Amino acid sequence: MARILGIDLGTTNSVMAVMERSGPIIVPNSLGERLTPSVVSFTKSGEILVGKKAKRAAIMNVGRTVFSIKRHMGTNYRVKIDGKEYTPQEISATILQKLKHDAEEYFGEEITQAVITVPAYFNDAQRQATKDAGEIAGLKVRRIIDEPTAAALAYGLDKEQDQIILVYDLGGGTYDVSIIEVISGVFQVLAIQGNTHLGGDDFDRRIVNYLLDQFKKKHNIDLSDDPIAMARLKEAAEEAKIELSELKETHILIEAITMTDKGPITLDEVLTRSQFESLVDDLIQQTIPPMLQAIEDARLEPAKINTVLLVGGSTRIPAVQRLVKDTLKKTPHRDISPEEVVALGAAVQTLILSPIEGEIEETLATRYGREKPVIIHMTPFSLGVGLINDQYGIIIERNSTYPTEAKDIFTTTRDFQEAVSFPVYEGDEPIASENTFLDLLRIEGITPAPRGVPRIEVTFKLNADRILEARAEDLATGVEKKITIAATGSKLSEAEKARMIKEARERVTKMLRAKIRERREEETQDILSRVEKALATSGSHPMAGELRTKSEELRNAVKSGNEETIEPLMDEVLRLLTEVEMAAR
Ligand code: ADP
Ligand code: MG
Repeated sequence: MARILGIDLGTTNSVMAVMERSGPIIVPNSLGERLTPSVVSFTKSGEILVGKKAKRAAIMNVGRTVFSIKRHMGTNYRVKIDGKEYTPQEISATILQKLKHDAEEYFGEEITQAVITVPAYFNDAQRQATKDAGEIAGLKVRRIIDEPTAAALAYGLDKEQDQIILVYDLGGGTYDVSIIEVISGVFQVLAIQGNTHLGGDDFDRRIVNYLLDQFKKKHNIDLSDDPIAMARLKEAAEEAKIELSELKETHILIEAITMTDKGPITLDEVLTRSQFESLVDDLIQQTIPPMLQAIEDARLEPAKINTVLLVGGSTRIPAVQRLVKDTLKKTPHRDISPEEVVALGAAVQTLILSPIEGEIEETLATRYGREKPVIIHMTPFSLGVGLINDQYGIIIERNSTYPTEAKDIFTTTRDFQEAVSFPVYEGDEPIASENTFLDLLRIEGITPAPRGVPRIEVTFKLNADRILEARAEDLATGVEKKITIAATGSKLSEAEKARMIKEARERVTKMLRAKIRERREEETQDILSRVEKALATSGSHPMAGELRTKSEELRNAVKSGNEETIEPLMDEVLRLLTEVEMAAR
């Protein structure tokens, strides 16, 4: 059975997991880390860095480093670097390529399939874009699954008694709260609320501002115009915040953060947990109204919530945990690492997609039950078409479960009209154009007839990934027009996708090049130190002179990145080195 990779493609961090005999496990990246920052950096020398290295390089690579691309999925946003434009799909694909590659190295086998999670509020365009990103990265996306549902799956909640779950997800840049009902293992997302601009980054910023203020008070220097100082402050602030989740007090020390005529100045501050809590209190409080609103949207009361799940790195903050507990009067589950729970759930979903076999079946049966959970989702909005006078013809009602299919029949408004265009909308405003426009469904070649006579059937099919396929058919002739919806402009044509897949493959080479160069640098360092040692003991060897010259050449070739000469030089140096070393024995 081919492995399917579960991927939480996060705004801040991405995480991979697979299903093993013992249950879902996290797949570490090439650095051995479980979280990979969702950051892509294009270096001036043409390399592409992804993850922690890209995050680190951000200071050096100003304007060439992309953060939080997830915010732009499904839009016309473009990243411009060196005169080339990248779609959000391509940047996300670069992250996915890195994950895929690392997982392949980890397992020693090719991985071609994935389940990718998205926020529950992601619309068609955003889901389609995520799916396309996977495809560009060379992954067949078997399923797009909602993050809160994945979290519930990771907890195996589908196997417990019927219940109502509130998922509180506070990540790096976004806050999502979802209410999920599980009845006999069937999931329904009842309500979604949140704030797409609230998360750990805001807490970091508060600490940075505090440090800037303190520094100004003490030294009368404003560091906010110095991008390098600001980058160092941000890094230190995040570190301090993380430490304060465990400790009552932390020491922030940034050496030589700035230079003055009297020499460098070091930033040296102590931040206590209670100071931090008062710095971010109003931000944390802002997570309450969406929680209560979601409960209200689901026509429930707080007391009806049976289970509370904490998801997202920022829920490690004790004050956040306290707030959720106090608001809902319930102790949240947090025994699974909050950054990893979504990816683990994606891995559980892979099990649902592939038949369980043999031995695996038995162990899984005890953990997840023999039956696979069924996930039923409800559409958070209605889907329909714009009609004459901007009337809204709803085809799939809000709160319909999907996958689903629905149809309606429309007609022409003019005599002998040959074509009809239906703007497709998502939303629940009574006036069509006030909803979110998705795409235009146009049918041509209608049998000429007086107005009101043709019968044009519009069918909406919403698949398991909540991606809409719209179809219009002239019932008289059977002429048909089909489109897969994704907001115009952000949607990729097949040709564009093919080109992106090709370019993505080329980008892998650039990603690997960075790795190969590093490995080579290490190797050269080893060889050069051996050369030094050999020359120190056998400096009079007849080949010592040549060894000295060649190793100098090698050092320069590596320094200047002169690819063609490195390999032969290395061989040459090694050959000479062995001779000289042998003589010393
Ligand atoms: P996302 O879902 O946005 O990709 P994560 O769930 O990985 O992100 O959360 C990332 C955020 O969690 C960052 O702002 C990070 O600083 C924060 N975080 C991680 N660990 C801790 C901790 N121990 N205490 C407080 N915040 C933390
Ligand atoms: Mg997340």
